[in-house]
Amino acid sequence: LRKRIIRAEKMEAVSHLAASISHEIRNPLTAARGFMQLLEQHHLSPEKRKQYVRIAIEELDRAEAIITDYLTFAKPAPESIEKLNVKTEIERVIDLLRPLANMNSVEVKTTLAPFTIIGEREKFRQCLLNIMKNAIEAMPNGGVLQIYVSIEKQHVLIRITDTGIGMTKEQIERLGEPYFTTKGIKGTGLGMMVVYRIIESMNGTIHIKSEIHKGTEVSIYLPLSSNLHDLTNEEKKLFMAL
Ligand code: ADP
Ligand code: MG
Repeated sequence: LRKRIIRAEKMEAVSHLAASISHEIRNPLTAARGFMQLLEQHHLSPEKRKQYVRIAIEELDRAEAIITDYLTFAKPAPESIEKLNVKTEIERVIDLLRPLANMNSVEVKTTLAPFTIIGEREKFRQCLLNIMKNAIEAMPNGGVLQIYVSIEKQHVLIRITDTGIGMTKEQIERLGEPYFTTKGIKGTGLGMMVVYRIIESMNGTIHIKSEIHKGTEVSIYLPLSSNLHDLTNEEKKLFMAL
């Protein structure tokens, strides 16, 4: 029963996602503005001044982190549902995360195949970004980020594995719950909520396996866009090989 309640709460949060974005970004901006206003006071000690500046910067960083979790690929035009090449999309997201991976000494290994799924490109990229970013952040002292693509029962499987800090059972349970983060002020606790929502909208499922100090494996299953006869020759070859 508890599990079902948590799930219902997650859904609730998800349905209000669009409305919550502006609210989420406005809060830290308002706070930053408030502290900058305080800086205008004349009799501030240098310590207080420093403290206010630090808080204002933290709040601006938070606004930036929220935009990263929600809107990295957002465009002014409305999104459309299209055929997406899983390999191409994954490669785009890896390119974007390369600097972060390098900073953490994370090696990226891929086994990709150009399967086709249906969905909104920006949402799919956002979902991949949030999962891979978590994976890299879980390996502050280096490790391997692995992305593997395959087909299982008419579904495209995308498996993202890291050799990072891992999660406890309790942490896995709370994944996707709004504001659940173990990263202190650096975390938003919104990245995985966005992931769950997007996977759901694409009629997919997500499975998490994790072991503390060993690493985490996130498996996403998304419906293959077409029957075998609709596939390109390249796709067919790959499909047959599996
Ligand atoms: P944030 O990254 O801002 O903390 P997320 O919703 O993206 O928020 O993730 C929530 C929490 O889930 C993280 O703070 C972390 O504790 C845990 N988590 C997610 N992915 C991983 C991972 N690959 N390895 C270890 N912990 C993870
Ligand atoms: Mg995150």
